Amino acid sequence: MEAPTEFPSVTFSDLATSSSAAPAAAVFSVDSSGKPRLRFVQTGSAAPLAELDLETTQVFRVGPVDLLCVSEEESGGNATDEKLCSKAFKVGFKTKDESKGFATAFEEWKNGRSSKDGASLENGLIVPSKSKFDSKIEATSAKMYFHYYGQLLHQQNMLQDFVRTGTYYAAVLENKSDFEGRVVVDVGAGSGILSLFAAQAGAKHVYAVEASEMAEYAQKLISGNPSLGQRITVIKGKVEEVELPEKADILISEPMGTLLVNERMLESYIIARDRFLTPSGKMFPTLGRIHMAPFSDEYLYVEVANKALFWQQQNFFGVDLTPLHGSAFQGYFSQPVVDAFDPRLLVSPPTFHTLDFTSMKEEDLYELDIPLNFTATVGTRVHGLACWFDVLFNGSTVQRWLTTAPGSPTTHWYQLRCVLQQPLYVMAGQQITGRLHLVAHSAQSYTIYLTLSTKMWGVGAEQGGVLQTSTGKLELKEPYYRLSQPQSYGASDQQQQTVQTQSMPPQDISQLQDEIDPSLSLEQL
Ligand code: SAH
Repeated sequence: MEAPTEFPSVTFSDLATSSSAAPAAAVFSVDSSGKPRLRFVQTGSAAPLAELDLETTQVFRVGPVDLLCVSEEESGGNATDEKLCSKAFKVGFKTKDESKGFATAFEEWKNGRSSKDGASLENGLIVPSKSKFDSKIEATSAKMYFHYYGQLLHQQNMLQDFVRTGTYYAAVLENKSDFEGRVVVDVGAGSGILSLFAAQAGAKHVYAVEASEMAEYAQKLISGNPSLGQRITVIKGKVEEVELPEKADILISEPMGTLLVNERMLESYIIARDRFLTPSGKMFPTLGRIHMAPFSDEYLYVEVANKALFWQQQNFFGVDLTPLHGSAFQGYFSQPVVDAFDPRLLVSPPTFHTLDFTSMKEEDLYELDIPLNFTATVGTRVHGLACWFDVLFNGSTVQRWLTTAPGSPTTHWYQLRCVLQQPLYVMAGQQITGRLHLVAHSAQSYTIYLTLSTKMWGVGAEQGGVLQTSTGKLELKEPYYRLSQPQSYGASDQQQQTVQTQSMPPQDISQLQDEIDPSLSLEQL
């Protein structure tokens, strides 16, 4: 049982009796049934002046050192009239700090002290006090994360990703039967756009849950679209923490980060499923897949390796920088490269790893261990592993995929490539094996451990055996955004331009298409 918190010298007056302020002690404690209570005891006497149930009590500040406690609690007797009356007590303190301390203690006890230490349950168990989010994510990381999403410019960036927003719109409106008359929860609503789509598709009610300051903007946007907005309730808070008045028939969310799992928001999506979704409920998106294939990109490799050349200087203002070259070299290779690349750089057909959002456990996302096995289709140098993802909206009417694959219209996620310090040599037909091991950390991202090996090929291959292995450790939180770089490939140019042309007049598109040399092949690159 929690030790009581005592404020030994306060003044107490009952507003109902207009009694003068009496010196008293205020004591917070829990009663035998585990309910938090506040007792006022007259100094020098054991008789309580008042005893309040904190669950039905509120505290107001009425002066720098004075507080008002108002309780809706019925007094013990059966006088029905009294039920209509509130009890109000003025509590005075000697200092501002003491009065603040009391207000804080009041909130802590009222909330079962759970915001700090864990709450004692009636059966004696201690429930973990921190929410699932707070206990695994560093506060500083979360603060920066929600600050980022609290800004309209970043929401605009996502909204302007036409592939993304357009696919969500199509997936929702083509599957009206999944939304009509249904209760929807929008997990991480941001600007509220997906809630508005769900309302357009005929949702009975949408709960738009958003933890960042964006919740206020979402409310504005939703209020400004009243015909849809009247069926949407914005709730500011984390999906791990807020309570909803009813269960949902369908969840809608856009929880995907780079490599699908970055930002660790998929875990919040799964927690929202377990907290809010009816057992037969649907999830939009329903599943996600991480796709992987080895790639060959001499330009990229040289570019990354050359970044560390700076540290090769032996006379930088009279200082030898070479002691740090090795560390800098490693540092650059620890950054996954984010850009849109030509799919012809792939050395073999891709494989994929599926995450079924409807059935997986939240803990399954703490560590992903993906075995790799490819067969090279060309003889070349392999510089690493290329990755992208797609998600499926498994609607009752239409199944729709949102893909971020190379060669498909580019999204704001682009693709991700893990470059290895040591390239591998492969022949056409040779097997490449390995492992992609992703380990989640408290800064809302993952450490990537990549291993690629070439297997014996040709004569003597039956005996198996690994010829060459290359490993890398990369930090998904620190990618190298290679987007402003001049593109070295005709075809990559094509892809970049395809995206830009979405808002270009048609004559410009044909002009761009003329510039593309379709005869470029991997070998020539
Ligand atoms: N649904 C919007 C925004 C997607 S970005 C759209 O599709 O345009 C993801 C949003 O989820 C961000 O605004 C972020 O603040 C919010 N978010 C992330 N984790 C959350 C959590 N645990 N609880 C509530 N909101 C969260």
